[in-house]
Amino acid sequence: MNEIKVLLIDDSETDVLLLIRELKKAGYEVKYRRVDTPGNMDAALRDGAWDIILCDYVIPGWSGLEALHRVRELGIETPVIVLSGHVGEDMVVGAMRAGANDYIMKDNLRRLASAVERELREASARSESKIVERELQKTTRELELVRKMDQLKDEFIGMISHEMRNPLTVLLGNLSVLKEGEGLSPDDVSVLTDGAYHEAHELGTILDNLLELARDRADRLQLKSEVLSLPSVIDEVVASLNPGDKERILFDGSRDVLPVEGDVVRLERILSNLISNALKYSPSNSKVKITVVNVADRKVMVTVSDHGIGIPESEQKDLFKLFSRLETGKAYAGGTGLGLVVCQRLCQAMGGRIWVDSTVGKGSAFHFTVPAAVDIGMVPANVSESPA
Ligand code: ADP
Repeated sequence: MNEIKVLLIDDSETDVLLLIRELKKAGYEVKYRRVDTPGNMDAALRDGAWDIILCDYVIPGWSGLEALHRVRELGIETPVIVLSGHVGEDMVVGAMRAGANDYIMKDNLRRLASAVERELREASARSESKIVERELQKTTRELELVRKMDQLKDEFIGMISHEMRNPLTVLLGNLSVLKEGEGLSPDDVSVLTDGAYHEAHELGTILDNLLELARDRADRLQLKSEVLSLPSVIDEVVASLNPGDKERILFDGSRDVLPVEGDVVRLERILSNLISNALKYSPSNSKVKITVVNVADRKVMVTVSDHGIGIPESEQKDLFKLFSRLETGKAYAGGTGLGLVVCQRLCQAMGGRIWVDSTVGKGSAFHFTVPAAVDIGMVPANVSESPA
Protein backbone atom coordinates (compact mmCIF):
# COMPACT_ATOMS: atom_id res chain seq x y z
CA MET A 1 0.00 0.00 0.00
CA ASN A 2 1.25 3.50 -0.87
CA GLU A 3 1.82 5.64 2.17
CA ILE A 4 1.35 9.38 1.64
CA LYS A 5 1.68 12.32 3.97
CA VAL A 6 -1.03 14.88 3.33
CA LEU A 7 -1.25 18.38 4.75
CA LEU A 8 -4.84 19.63 4.67
CA ILE A 9 -5.49 23.35 4.83
CA ASP A 10 -9.17 23.28 5.63
CA ASP A 11 -11.48 24.53 8.41
CA SER A 12 -13.91 21.63 8.12
CA GLU A 13 -13.14 18.34 9.84
CA THR A 14 -16.01 16.70 7.92
CA ASP A 15 -14.66 17.76 4.54
CA VAL A 16 -11.26 16.47 5.53
CA LEU A 17 -12.68 13.06 6.44
CA LEU A 18 -14.33 12.88 3.04
CA LEU A 19 -11.09 13.67 1.29
CA ILE A 20 -9.16 11.09 3.28
CA ARG A 21 -11.82 8.49 2.57
CA GLU A 22 -11.43 9.13 -1.20
CA LEU A 23 -7.69 8.63 -0.97
CA LYS A 24 -8.00 5.48 1.13
CA LYS A 25 -10.47 4.10 -1.38
CA ALA A 26 -7.82 4.54 -4.06
CA GLY A 27 -5.41 2.39 -2.01
CA TYR A 28 -3.38 5.07 -0.22
CA GLU A 29 -2.37 4.67 3.40
CA VAL A 30 -2.84 8.26 4.51
CA LYS A 31 -1.02 10.13 7.27
CA TYR A 32 -2.40 13.62 7.58
CA ARG A 33 -2.62 16.81 9.57
CA ARG A 34 -5.32 19.47 9.32
CA VAL A 35 -4.48 23.17 9.78
CA ASP A 36 -6.72 26.22 9.48
CA THR A 37 -4.58 29.17 10.62
CA PRO A 38 -1.34 30.67 9.21
CA GLY A 39 0.53 29.83 12.45
CA ASN A 40 -0.56 26.17 12.41
CA MET A 41 0.33 25.86 8.77
CA ASP A 42 3.82 27.34 9.24
CA ALA A 43 4.43 24.95 12.14
CA ALA A 44 3.26 21.95 10.09
CA LEU A 45 5.47 22.97 7.17
CA ARG A 46 8.41 23.29 9.53
CA ASP A 47 7.73 19.96 11.22
CA GLY A 48 7.79 17.66 8.25
CA ALA A 49 8.06 16.96 4.59
CA TRP A 50 4.61 16.53 3.01
CA ASP A 51 3.94 14.59 -0.17
CA ILE A 52 0.94 16.67 -1.12
CA ILE A 53 -1.03 19.66 0.16
CA LEU A 54 -4.82 19.84 -0.26
CA CYS A 55 -5.99 23.39 0.25
CA ASP A 56 -9.57 24.64 0.62
CA TYR A 57 -10.22 27.79 -1.40
CA VAL A 58 -12.49 29.31 1.24
CA ILE A 59 -11.27 29.40 4.84
CA PRO A 60 -13.06 31.72 7.30
CA GLY A 61 -10.77 34.55 8.48
CA TRP A 62 -8.07 33.51 6.03
CA SER A 63 -7.96 32.40 2.41
CA GLY A 64 -6.74 29.43 0.42
CA LEU A 65 -4.93 31.80 -1.96
CA GLU A 66 -3.02 33.43 0.91
CA ALA A 67 -2.06 30.00 2.25
CA LEU A 68 -0.86 29.00 -1.20
CA HIS A 69 1.18 32.19 -1.60
CA ARG A 70 2.80 31.54 1.77
CA VAL A 71 3.74 27.94 0.83
CA ARG A 72 5.45 29.06 -2.36
CA GLU A 73 7.03 32.08 -0.65
CA LEU A 74 8.74 29.63 1.72
CA GLY A 75 10.26 27.92 -1.32
CA ILE A 76 8.28 24.71 -0.74
CA GLU A 77 7.69 22.87 -3.99
CA THR A 78 5.25 20.22 -2.71
CA PRO A 79 2.30 19.85 -5.14
CA VAL A 80 -0.80 21.76 -4.01
CA ILE A 81 -4.31 20.86 -5.12
CA VAL A 82 -6.91 23.55 -4.44
CA LEU A 83 -10.46 22.42 -3.55
CA SER A 84 -13.55 24.54 -3.80
CA GLY A 85 -17.30 24.29 -3.58
CA HIS A 86 -17.73 26.68 -6.50
CA VAL A 87 -15.93 27.14 -9.70
CA GLY A 88 -15.28 30.32 -11.54
CA GLU A 89 -12.72 31.10 -14.22
CA ASP A 90 -11.20 33.84 -12.07
CA MET A 91 -10.81 31.49 -9.12
CA VAL A 92 -9.10 28.80 -11.18
CA VAL A 93 -6.76 31.26 -12.90
CA GLY A 94 -5.96 32.95 -9.55
CA ALA A 95 -5.14 29.63 -7.87
CA MET A 96 -2.96 28.40 -10.74
CA ARG A 97 -1.12 31.73 -10.84
CA ALA A 98 -0.49 31.51 -7.09
CA GLY A 99 1.26 28.19 -7.66
CA ALA A 100 -1.47 25.54 -7.43
CA ASN A 101 -0.87 22.37 -9.41
CA ASP A 102 -4.53 21.45 -9.86
CA TYR A 103 -8.03 22.62 -8.97
CA ILE A 104 -10.86 20.22 -7.97
CA MET A 105 -14.54 20.78 -7.24
CA LYS A 106 -15.62 19.46 -3.86
CA ASP A 107 -18.70 17.83 -5.40
CA ASN A 108 -16.55 15.87 -7.84
CA LEU A 109 -14.11 14.15 -5.44
CA ARG A 110 -13.85 11.06 -7.68
CA ARG A 111 -11.18 13.00 -9.57
CA LEU A 112 -9.12 13.51 -6.39
CA ALA A 113 -7.18 10.21 -6.26
CA SER A 114 -6.13 10.34 -9.92
CA ALA A 115 -5.11 14.01 -9.56
CA VAL A 116 -3.04 13.16 -6.47
CA GLU A 117 -1.41 10.24 -8.25
CA ARG A 118 -0.49 12.38 -11.24
CA GLU A 119 0.92 15.17 -9.08
CA LEU A 120 3.03 12.71 -7.06
CA ARG A 121 4.39 11.18 -10.26
CA GLU A 122 5.24 14.58 -11.73
CA ALA A 123 6.85 15.77 -8.48
CA SER A 124 9.04 12.69 -8.40
CA ALA A 125 10.06 13.27 -12.04
CA ARG A 126 10.82 16.91 -11.21
CA SER A 127 13.03 15.97 -8.28
CA GLU A 128 14.83 13.31 -10.34
CA SER A 129 15.57 15.80 -13.10
CA LYS A 130 16.81 18.23 -10.45
CA ILE A 131 19.21 15.58 -9.14
CA VAL A 132 20.46 14.95 -12.67
CA GLU A 133 20.84 18.69 -13.22
CA ARG A 134 22.80 19.07 -9.96
CA GLU A 135 25.05 16.14 -10.87
CA LEU A 136 25.63 17.70 -14.26
CA GLN A 137 26.56 21.03 -12.69
CA LYS A 138 28.91 19.26 -10.27
CA THR A 139 30.61 17.37 -13.09
CA THR A 140 30.95 20.58 -15.12
CA ARG A 141 32.55 22.32 -12.11
CA GLU A 142 34.92 19.40 -11.56
CA LEU A 143 35.90 19.38 -15.24
CA GLU A 144 36.57 23.10 -15.07
CA LEU A 145 38.76 22.53 -11.99
CA VAL A 146 40.72 19.79 -13.77
CA ARG A 147 41.16 22.09 -16.75
CA LYS A 148 42.40 24.90 -14.48
CA MET A 149 44.78 22.54 -12.64
CA ASP A 150 46.11 21.36 -15.96
CA GLN A 151 46.66 24.92 -17.09
CA LEU A 152 48.35 25.72 -13.77
CA LYS A 153 50.62 22.70 -14.16
CA ASP A 154 51.63 23.82 -17.67
CA GLU A 155 52.30 27.34 -16.40
CA PHE A 156 54.29 25.92 -13.49
CA ILE A 157 56.44 23.72 -15.73
CA GLY A 158 57.06 26.70 -18.04
CA MET A 159 58.00 28.96 -15.12
CA ILE A 160 60.30 26.41 -13.44
CA SER A 161 62.02 25.62 -16.76
CA HIS A 162 62.56 29.33 -17.31
CA GLU A 163 63.93 29.84 -13.78
CA MET A 164 66.28 26.85 -14.19
CA ARG A 165 67.37 27.88 -17.68
CA ASN A 166 68.78 31.24 -16.45
CA PRO A 167 71.35 29.89 -13.94
CA LEU A 168 72.15 27.01 -16.30
CA THR A 169 73.00 29.46 -19.12
CA VAL A 170 75.35 31.46 -16.85
CA LEU A 171 76.87 28.26 -15.44
CA LEU A 172 77.57 26.81 -18.91
CA GLY A 173 78.88 30.18 -20.14
CA ASN A 174 81.34 30.52 -17.23
CA LEU A 175 82.46 26.91 -17.59
CA SER A 176 83.07 27.22 -21.32
CA VAL A 177 85.19 30.39 -20.82
CA LEU A 178 87.13 28.60 -18.06
CA LYS A 179 87.62 25.57 -20.32
CA GLU A 180 89.11 27.70 -23.10
CA GLY A 181 91.32 29.17 -20.40
CA GLU A 182 93.08 31.57 -22.79
CA GLY A 183 94.22 34.94 -21.41
CA LEU A 184 92.50 34.49 -18.05
CA SER A 185 94.10 36.07 -15.00
CA PRO A 186 93.82 34.29 -11.63
CA ASP A 187 91.24 36.95 -10.66
CA ASP A 188 89.17 36.18 -13.79
CA VAL A 189 89.27 32.47 -12.96
CA SER A 190 88.17 33.18 -9.39
CA VAL A 191 85.26 35.41 -10.52
CA LEU A 192 84.11 32.87 -13.13
CA THR A 193 84.37 29.96 -10.68
CA ASP A 194 82.49 31.84 -7.96
CA GLY A 195 79.81 32.75 -10.50
CA ALA A 196 79.49 29.15 -11.66
CA TYR A 197 79.32 27.93 -8.06
CA HIS A 198 76.62 30.49 -7.24
CA GLU A 199 74.48 29.49 -10.22
CA ALA A 200 74.87 25.78 -9.46
CA HIS A 201 73.79 26.58 -5.89
CA GLU A 202 70.69 28.38 -7.24
CA LEU A 203 69.80 25.35 -9.35
CA GLY A 204 70.27 23.11 -6.33
CA THR A 205 67.93 25.30 -4.24
CA ILE A 206 65.17 25.15 -6.86
CA LEU A 207 65.50 21.35 -7.09
CA ASP A 208 65.57 20.97 -3.29
CA ASN A 209 62.42 23.06 -2.93
CA LEU A 210 60.67 21.09 -5.66
CA LEU A 211 61.57 17.78 -4.04
CA GLU A 212 60.52 18.99 -0.60
CA LEU A 213 57.17 20.13 -1.96
CA ALA A 214 56.62 16.84 -3.82
CA ARG A 215 57.36 14.90 -0.60
CA ASP A 216 54.99 17.11 1.38
CA ARG A 217 52.19 16.68 -1.16
CA ALA A 218 52.67 12.91 -1.14
CA ASP A 219 52.65 12.93 2.69
CA ARG A 220 56.18 11.60 2.68
CA LEU A 221 57.87 14.42 4.59
CA GLN A 222 60.02 12.50 7.04
CA LEU A 223 61.98 14.66 9.42
CA LYS A 224 64.87 13.73 11.65
CA SER A 225 64.81 14.98 15.18
CA GLU A 226 68.22 15.95 16.54
CA VAL A 227 69.30 18.32 19.28
CA LEU A 228 70.97 21.24 17.54
CA SER A 229 72.52 24.64 18.18
CA LEU A 230 70.75 27.15 15.92
CA PRO A 231 73.69 29.62 15.85
CA SER A 232 75.89 26.80 14.51
CA VAL A 233 73.32 25.93 11.82
CA ILE A 234 73.19 29.61 10.82
CA ASP A 235 77.02 29.75 10.71
CA GLU A 236 77.03 26.78 8.31
CA VAL A 237 74.50 28.39 5.97
CA VAL A 238 76.32 31.74 6.00
CA ALA A 239 79.65 29.99 5.33
CA SER A 240 78.18 28.40 2.18
CA LEU A 241 77.32 31.80 0.65
CA ASN A 242 79.54 33.35 -2.00
CA PRO A 243 81.98 36.00 -0.70
CA GLY A 244 79.92 38.99 -1.93
CA ASP A 245 76.74 37.76 -0.21
CA LYS A 246 78.64 36.71 2.92
CA GLU A 247 79.90 40.27 3.39
CA ARG A 248 76.33 41.53 3.55
CA ILE A 249 75.34 39.27 6.47
CA LEU A 250 75.39 40.56 10.03
CA PHE A 251 75.17 37.70 12.51
CA ASP A 252 76.43 37.49 16.03
CA GLY A 253 76.64 33.74 16.43
CA SER A 254 77.65 33.97 20.06
CA ARG A 255 74.03 34.41 21.30
CA ASP A 256 73.33 32.21 24.25
CA VAL A 257 70.17 30.37 23.20
CA LEU A 258 68.62 27.04 24.12
CA PRO A 259 69.47 24.06 21.97
CA VAL A 260 66.58 23.14 19.65
CA GLU A 261 65.10 19.93 18.40
CA GLY A 262 64.82 19.75 14.62
CA ASP A 263 66.11 18.42 11.33
CA VAL A 264 69.40 20.10 10.44
CA VAL A 265 69.00 19.79 6.65
CA ARG A 266 65.50 21.28 6.82
CA LEU A 267 66.62 24.12 9.12
CA GLU A 268 69.39 24.92 6.66
CA ARG A 269 66.82 24.92 3.85
CA ILE A 270 64.55 27.38 5.66
CA LEU A 271 67.47 29.65 6.48
CA SER A 272 68.93 29.52 3.02
CA ASN A 273 65.54 30.39 1.44
CA LEU A 274 65.02 33.33 3.81
CA ILE A 275 68.59 34.61 3.49
CA SER A 276 68.49 34.26 -0.28
CA ASN A 277 65.20 36.24 -0.42
CA ALA A 278 66.55 38.94 1.92
CA LEU A 279 69.64 39.35 -0.29
CA LYS A 280 67.59 39.19 -3.50
CA TYR A 281 64.85 41.68 -2.59
CA SER A 282 67.14 44.40 -1.17
CA PRO A 283 69.84 46.70 -2.64
CA SER A 284 73.20 44.99 -3.15
CA ASN A 285 74.94 47.46 -0.84
CA SER A 286 72.54 46.88 2.08
CA LYS A 287 73.01 44.53 5.02
CA VAL A 288 70.93 41.48 6.01
CA LYS A 289 70.71 40.88 9.74
CA ILE A 290 70.14 37.52 11.43
CA THR A 291 69.21 37.26 15.10
CA VAL A 292 68.34 34.31 17.30
CA VAL A 293 66.62 34.55 20.71
CA ASN A 294 64.76 32.41 23.23
CA VAL A 295 61.02 33.18 23.24
CA ALA A 296 57.94 32.06 25.16
CA ASP A 297 56.66 28.44 25.16
CA ARG A 298 60.21 27.05 25.15
CA LYS A 299 60.84 28.06 21.58
CA VAL A 300 63.80 29.69 19.89
CA MET A 301 63.10 32.36 17.29
CA VAL A 302 65.27 33.22 14.28
CA THR A 303 64.76 36.53 12.47
CA VAL A 304 66.17 37.36 9.03
CA SER A 305 65.68 41.06 8.30
CA ASP A 306 66.57 43.23 5.34
CA HIS A 307 66.37 46.88 4.24
CA GLY A 308 64.74 45.97 0.95
CA ILE A 309 61.59 46.66 -1.03
CA GLY A 310 59.20 45.41 1.68
CA ILE A 311 55.84 43.71 1.17
CA PRO A 312 52.50 45.58 1.03
CA GLU A 313 50.23 44.56 3.94
CA SER A 314 47.48 43.52 1.52
CA GLU A 315 49.84 41.01 -0.13
CA GLN A 316 51.29 39.52 3.04
CA LYS A 317 48.44 37.01 3.37
CA ASP A 318 49.37 35.49 -0.02
CA LEU A 319 53.06 35.11 0.75
CA PHE A 320 52.94 31.52 1.91
CA LYS A 321 50.65 30.27 -0.86
CA LEU A 322 52.01 27.95 -3.52
CA PHE A 323 53.66 29.71 -6.50
CA SER A 324 52.75 33.07 -5.05
CA ARG A 325 55.01 35.72 -6.56
CA LEU A 326 54.12 39.27 -5.62
CA GLU A 327 54.02 41.97 -8.27
CA THR A 328 56.56 44.06 -6.34
CA GLY A 329 58.94 41.08 -6.08
CA LYS A 330 58.52 40.07 -9.72
CA ALA A 331 59.63 43.49 -10.91
CA TYR A 332 62.73 43.23 -8.71
CA ALA A 333 64.09 39.71 -9.23
CA GLY A 334 63.32 36.28 -10.69
CA GLY A 335 61.95 33.44 -8.60
CA THR A 336 59.69 30.42 -8.48
CA GLY A 337 57.32 31.23 -5.60
CA LEU A 338 58.30 27.93 -3.99
CA GLY A 339 60.66 29.08 -1.22
CA LEU A 340 58.26 30.47 1.37
CA VAL A 341 55.66 27.74 1.02
CA VAL A 342 58.40 25.15 1.61
CA CYS A 343 59.67 27.17 4.62
CA GLN A 344 56.17 27.21 6.09
CA ARG A 345 55.58 23.48 5.66
CA LEU A 346 58.97 22.62 7.15
CA CYS A 347 58.51 24.98 10.12
CA GLN A 348 55.08 23.48 10.85
CA ALA A 349 56.41 19.94 10.51
CA MET A 350 59.07 20.73 13.12
CA GLY A 351 56.50 22.20 15.54
CA GLY A 352 57.24 25.88 14.89
CA ARG A 353 55.74 28.62 12.75
CA ILE A 354 56.83 31.36 10.35
CA TRP A 355 55.52 34.89 9.82
CA VAL A 356 56.57 38.28 8.48
CA ASP A 357 56.72 41.93 9.58
CA SER A 358 57.23 44.24 6.66
CA THR A 359 56.96 47.87 5.59
CA VAL A 360 57.02 48.87 1.94
CA GLY A 361 60.22 50.73 1.08
CA LYS A 362 61.79 50.01 4.47
CA GLY A 363 62.30 46.26 4.54
CA SER A 364 61.06 42.93 5.83
CA ALA A 365 61.73 40.74 8.85
CA PHE A 366 60.89 37.04 8.50
CA HIS A 367 60.64 35.23 11.84
CA PHE A 368 60.41 31.51 12.51
CA THR A 369 60.38 29.47 15.68
CA VAL A 370 61.77 26.03 16.50
CA PRO A 371 60.91 24.11 19.70
CA ALA A 372 63.70 24.03 22.27
CA ALA A 373 65.08 20.56 23.07
CA VAL A 374 63.08 18.99 25.90
CA ASP A 375 66.13 17.82 27.82
CA ILE A 376 68.29 20.92 28.11
CA GLY A 377 71.13 18.80 29.51
CA MET A 378 71.57 17.27 26.04
CA VAL A 379 74.52 18.47 23.96
CA PRO A 380 73.62 19.72 20.47
CA ALA A 381 74.85 17.32 17.77
CA ASN A 382 76.40 20.16 15.78
CA VAL A 383 78.48 21.58 18.65
CA SER A 384 81.60 19.75 19.80
CA GLU A 385 81.64 19.09 23.52
CA SER A 386 84.43 21.07 25.16
CA PRO A 387 87.02 18.92 26.93
CA ALA A 388 86.58 18.63 30.70
P1 ADP B 1 60.57 33.48 -4.96
O1 ADP B 1 61.33 32.35 -5.58
O2 ADP B 1 59.66 34.16 -5.91
O3 ADP B 1 61.43 34.42 -4.20
P2 ADP B 1 59.38 32.83 -2.42
O4 ADP B 1 58.29 31.85 -2.07
O5 ADP B 1 60.64 32.70 -1.70
O6 ADP B 1 59.56 32.73 -3.97
O7 ADP B 1 58.78 34.27 -2.18
C1 ADP B 1 57.48 34.59 -2.68
C2 ADP B 1 57.36 36.07 -2.97
O8 ADP B 1 57.43 36.81 -1.72
C3 ADP B 1 58.50 36.64 -3.79
O9 ADP B 1 58.25 36.49 -5.18
C4 ADP B 1 58.54 38.10 -3.36
O10 ADP B 1 57.57 38.83 -4.09
C5 ADP B 1 58.09 38.05 -1.90
N1 ADP B 1 59.23 38.09 -0.95
C6 ADP B 1 59.83 37.05 -0.32
N2 ADP B 1 60.81 37.46 0.50
C7 ADP B 1 60.84 38.80 0.40
C8 ADP B 1 61.64 39.84 1.02
N3 ADP B 1 62.60 39.55 1.90
N4 ADP B 1 61.35 41.11 0.68
C9 ADP B 1 60.38 41.42 -0.20
N5 ADP B 1 59.60 40.49 -0.83
C10 ADP B 1 59.83 39.21 -0.52
